[in-house]
Amino acid sequence: MTQGPHFLQIPGPSPVPERIQRAIDRQVIDHRGPDFQKLGHEALEGIKPIFGTTQPVIIYPASGTGAWEAAIVNTLSAGDRVLMAETGQFATLWQNLAARWGVTVDFLPGDWRHGVDAAAIEARLADDKSHTIKAVMVVHNETSTGCLSDIAAVRKAMNAVKHPALLMVDTISSLGSAPVKHDGWGADVTVSGSQKGLMLPPGLSFTAVSPKALAASKTNTLPRAYWDWQEMIAFNAKGFFPYTPASTLLYGLREALIMLNEEGLENVFARHQHLAAACRAAVRGWGLDVLCADPKVTSPILTGILMPAGHDADNFRKVALENFNISYGAGLGKVAGKVFRIGHLGDCNELTLMAALCATEMSLTLAGVPHKAGGVAAAMASFTEDNKKLRLSA
Ligand SMILES: *Cc1c(COP(=O)(O)O)cnc(C)c1O
Repeated sequence: MTQGPHFLQIPGPSPVPERIQRAIDRQVIDHRGPDFQKLGHEALEGIKPIFGTTQPVIIYPASGTGAWEAAIVNTLSAGDRVLMAETGQFATLWQNLAARWGVTVDFLPGDWRHGVDAAAIEARLADDKSHTIKAVMVVHNETSTGCLSDIAAVRKAMNAVKHPALLMVDTISSLGSAPVKHDGWGADVTVSGSQKGLMLPPGLSFTAVSPKALAASKTNTLPRAYWDWQEMIAFNAKGFFPYTPASTLLYGLREALIMLNEEGLENVFARHQHLAAACRAAVRGWGLDVLCADPKVTSPILTGILMPAGHDADNFRKVALENFNISYGAGLGKVAGKVFRIGHLGDCNELTLMAALCATEMSLTLAGVPHKAGGVAAAMASFTEDNKKLRLSA
């Protein structure tokens, strides 16, 4: 069945709203001319509050992985040690990338069902008396599992043992959907991407950089050219870029920022929590398990759902796609085939999510996955309860 819109319910890329599609659909312009300069300044300034920062934010024409690499090559030297936490597949990929640059990674093991363990970070840093660890690198929203880690707790752990390592945070799937506090966290490098909470197509990545990270970039020795922060920041000061920027995506970014500010960031974050609570209520209603096992860190952005033993999540996704024209996120890495993920980020509201949950309940039946019938009803009840509370507090 292919009539009507496809339901893109994966946790990024998230659907691009009409307004942003219209904003992007423009003729290209001279990227060294005055019209571009105005757009450049608007984009570079406008993104800062979303990162909770007054520091420079670099915009690359690249996917999030580009900003990951830039964070490493601008701050570290071959042989440096870094401390990372295995929250899931994205943390694993970032550590693989660091290792390929000759960086030694201490990778704190995790079970892919919890957020970053700040106490374990503190213990490792306390042992590192000679300060050989140059950076602590963590993923804020682990998109492969649906756990949103407490970054303030990581900073507190670093401060408790007065460790001077840089704090680098991946907010690729949380920016624009959950509070990101580059300055408030005391983060040194915060990286993100365009195609998740910012509701843009893939193709832009972002990096907020602290003065301490910039200082590190003046003495580190990993080579870089395209990713060089210093050159970028020098051009950005005048609203320009050292090479051809993705100007049409920057029009889209300008519109996305207007949309986020119209709704109000606090309201955007509350909407994501509201959607996530209903999604988890549905999962409980089906008698299935949410992958994130710590209720304090369940993600407002996506929900990972564990299949009952012996049932293949990829077969379930295939049945749902064929019958209802809906895409869910696949289980990645260690949880491939065991998990599917429902994204509820960006341009998503109660009825989009309800439609997705209806498709889920019907597909569980069609795929022969044992479950209870009450998931959709539980999600509706969650919405009405939550709305009553919202109205009472308004
Ligand atoms: C999507 C994502 C990435 C990878 O970003 P690309 O744009 O695919 O390079 C990295 N980290 C997290 C947490 C993500 O969600």
